[in-house]
Amino acid sequence: MHGNDYTESNNKHPSGVVYLVGGGPGDPGLLTLRGLDCLKRADVVVHDRLSNDELLAYAPQAEQIDVGKLPDHHPIPQTQINALLVEKARAGKTVVRLKGGDPFVFGRGGEEAQALAEAGIRFKIVPGVTSAIAVPAYAGIPVTQRGMARSVAFITGHSADSEPLDLNWQALAQGVDTLVFLMGVKSLPVIIASLMEAGRPTGTPVAVIERGTSPRQKVIVGTLSDIQEKAMEIQPPSIIVVGEVVSLHDTLKWFDPAPASK
Ligand code: SAH
Repeated sequence: MHGNDYTESNNKHPSGVVYLVGGGPGDPGLLTLRGLDCLKRADVVVHDRLSNDELLAYAPQAEQIDVGKLPDHHPIPQTQINALLVEKARAGKTVVRLKGGDPFVFGRGGEEAQALAEAGIRFKIVPGVTSAIAVPAYAGIPVTQRGMARSVAFITGHSADSEPLDLNWQALAQGVDTLVFLMGVKSLPVIIASLMEAGRPTGTPVAVIERGTSPRQKVIVGTLSDIQEKAMEIQPPSIIVVGEVVSLHDTLKWFDPAPASK
């Protein structure tokens, strides 16, 4: 394995190791070489809903544990996932914690790493191609563009049930050129209303991209004033992009998700 490993020399449990691996946004071709190497060598792969099933085929030798949803459709509590990673590593296993996109972009990878650090477990981070950039890219939308967008923010649209979205709308609406919302489908109406209220012009282009980079990718383009109506059918997982760069979609769209065209 490449890369320096600070924890290697001073860990208390030398036996096992956990790799927090970013699996990329969906298209299996966007897994990194290091991620692939980890999967091939894993004793255990702990994965969830967003990690691409096709990637699991690279680890046929491994015990594969799905921690995405319990049978009652509730998510498995994070503390249980952390405990599982610790337990498997303590048993001497090479564990891959496979996560969608990048493990440190809204993936709770940071919390898992903290739990491992606290337990004295050796871990390594394998960054992944985040959906925040790759999904717009597959819709022909560069998140920055000379003369058009010099700043970009990744924002969570998720809020705990019935809580309002706790964001600095003024700062986002007026201070950042491209806004990329993850987990925002349910909050789309709030996001749009809040941005307009905070001064973003109603004609600002907006794209909503469902299942980006996959054969089921859907792209809806509009403006702050009409995107809600246009994107009624959109389901998670989706990315919402707000900003002038969305206007490039028309000329830069390149990805045809229809398998026949491949
Ligand atoms: N760590 C992940 C993000 C996890 S949060 C990453 O770096 O990509 C989950 C959210 O990611 C989803 O709600 C959705 O907003 C976004 N997402 C992930 N994959 C996606 C895809 N293929 N298409 C659209 N959105 C996606």
